[in-house]
Parts: sequence; structure tokens; C-alpha cells
Amino acid sequence: MASDQEDNGQRVKRLLGKPGNGNCADCGAADPEWASYTLGVFVCLSCSGLHRNIARISKVKSVLLDPWSASEVELMDSVGNNAAKAKYEKIVPAFYYCPTHKDCMLLKEQWIRAKYERKEFQCVERQEPYSAGYREGFLWKRGRDNGQYLSRKFILSEREGVLKYFKKHDAREPKATMKINTLNATFQPTKMGTAQGLQITYLKDNSTRNIFVYHEDGKEMVDWFNGIRAARFHYLQVAFPGASISDLLPKLTRNYIMEGYMEKTGPKHTEGFKKRWFTMDERRLMYFKDPLDAYARGEVFIGSRENSYSVHPGLPQNTQGYHWQFGITIVTPDRKFLFACETDEDQKDWISAFQTVINRPMQPREYAVAAYFKHKP
Ligand SMILES: [Zn+2]
Repeated sequence: MASDQEDNGQRVKRLLGKPGNGNCADCGAADPEWASYTLGVFVCLSCSGLHRNIARISKVKSVLLDPWSASEVELMDSVGNNAAKAKYEKIVPAFYYCPTHKDCMLLKEQWIRAKYERKEFQCVERQEPYSAGYREGFLWKRGRDNGQYLSRKFILSEREGVLKYFKKHDAREPKATMKINTLNATFQPTKMGTAQGLQITYLKDNSTRNIFVYHEDGKEMVDWFNGIRAARFHYLQVAFPGASISDLLPKLTRNYIMEGYMEKTGPKHTEGFKKRWFTMDERRLMYFKDPLDAYARGEVFIGSRENSYSVHPGLPQNTQGYHWQFGITIVTPDRKFLFACETDEDQKDWISAFQTVINRPMQPREYAVAAYFKHKP
């Protein structure tokens, strides 16, 4: 009997070598060591934890540590990650966000529930909440003044090309109208202190505005997120008729290149350094007094090397008024920007973030943004 079990253990381990089984079935992480022996997929430790939330349909065990029965091994052999993908991801809409191991838990959890529990990708009718081109519902929105979250009605309309929200539930005029062409949405569980926290940004008069929203129900929040992606996808398909789907997908929503605190000084470099929250969003470096502010206190355009932008560790000699020791100098055609980081790790991360942007050649549409920043009052 014991040898049978050893034999089963060896057989299931060998299955990890089969095509498709070398990466987590749900997030793509390399070398999964867990498996759902009811669904027949190999998953990483983190996704195995999320499978435990759907215990009615998925039962997980360790490939390396748990005992395996012959019938369980046979199921793993007959299904496996590739066959499961063909079944559970049969019709994933192009715009739908498929998370990787780097994404937040909410996106991964809802992806797993959508696949196996709700079977959303086996039947297009189940995709209605995010693919219909119209969505209406209530979200908790952070108030600008006191930081309190208040219930607000939101409407996403592809036909009108907008996302809008209403202060009073029966109000006719929206409090804010956000055009789909400048909209972005990114989950911010750490910054907002809630797993379902979503930061939505849009441009108004070329400046970035932030709103922070959440819904208690994770599915609702992820449906809003994918609804925004769908609306952006359809907008971009019309705006850029020649572009391929793979060109458009990275433009639907984006995460920030880097966020965190640094100290900064003003243009004269004499007024002392102040601690600010910084967000690097594509080529826009924005700073805020509070990470959850609605408006940036300032935005700096970071161009490319060809346009004489560069980043250097340290501060010019005789710089005064900073408290943090790890300086960064950004040289632009017009002036120098001075920053100070709290740790050498932060300094390294920020320099590499700036380097990423500076090393990237400017895209045609970015020249328009650069020109706007230049002529900003
Ligand atoms: Zn995973």
C-alpha cells in the first residue's frame, strides 16, 4: 500500500513536466507545487489559497507533500493546465484583464471565481456586466475634503464616451464627467487600505484628477474595472482603426511605474525640502501632499535622453535643507529637479524608474504632452 502511494506521488510529480503544467494555471507563476485535484489544474501556493475560497468546486493539495490516490493522479493526468485553459478560458474577451502573479489578490481571486465558479468564459451572456457598454451602480467614493467614503451613483456609458458620478441619487446633473479617452483605473489596496480599492484618474484641462472608490463586493469592483477596460478598448478601436489588438491592449489601463515618498525642493532650491507623495505615471511625475489627494500639487514631464533629460544619484554641492540623505537630481533642458529619498533602496528604485522613462524614446503623442507642460502657466 505504502509503495502504491509513493508511486502515485512520483507520478503526479512527473505530470509537472507536461506542457502547460510548468506554470500556475491561474497567474502564470513558474513551477507550481500545488494542485486542484477536482479541477485538474496545477497552481502556485498563492492561487491554491484562493482555490480554498471555492472549496465547493475546488479541492487543493500539495504535489510534493500530500498523499495522492491513483484516481486523483489519473484526473490530473487527463486534465492538466492546457486542457483546463481550453475549457475554462474558452472565450475570454480581449479587453478582460487576466492577472499575473504580480497583481493584487482581488484581481486574482475574481479571475479564479470567474473561471471556475461563475464559468464566465464559457458563455458570453455571463460577460454582460462588463461587456454591455453600459454600467450603472453605486460605489463608495472618497470625499475630497474629509476623506470619508460616501455612496455615489456611477454610470459608465460607451455611447456617450464617459464615466460620470452623481452626488444625489436622484440628481440629473453629474458631479463629474470623465471622458473615456483619458480614463485610467488601477487597484490600490495598500495605498487605500482596502482590498477592493480602485483609483480612477482622468485628465481635466490636461491635469490629472484622482478619485478613489470601492465596493464591498469584489466581483462588482472587478466588473467596473473590466467595464472601463471594455469602454477604452472600443473607444481606441474607433480612434485608431489601423492598430492591432495587441497594440491597443497595453493602453486600456496601466499601473504606475513607481509610487512613494520623496522630499522635494522648489525651483529656486532655497526654500527647503518638503516631504511629498510621488507618482510616476508614464512620463508624468506628480506630487501630492497626501497620497489620496484629488489633485496633484504639481506635475513634471520627464522626457527622453534624446531630449537632454538625465537622472543622477546625489544632489549638487551646497544643496541645503533636506532631511533625507539619498539624493536624486533630474536634469531637464530647462532646470534641475532635486529629490531626497529616505533609504538607499528607495533611491535605487526611483532612479531605475526614472531611467526606464528616460531611456524610452518619445512617442508622437507624448510631444503634445511635453508641449503642454512647457507652456503651462
Ligand atoms: Zn498562481
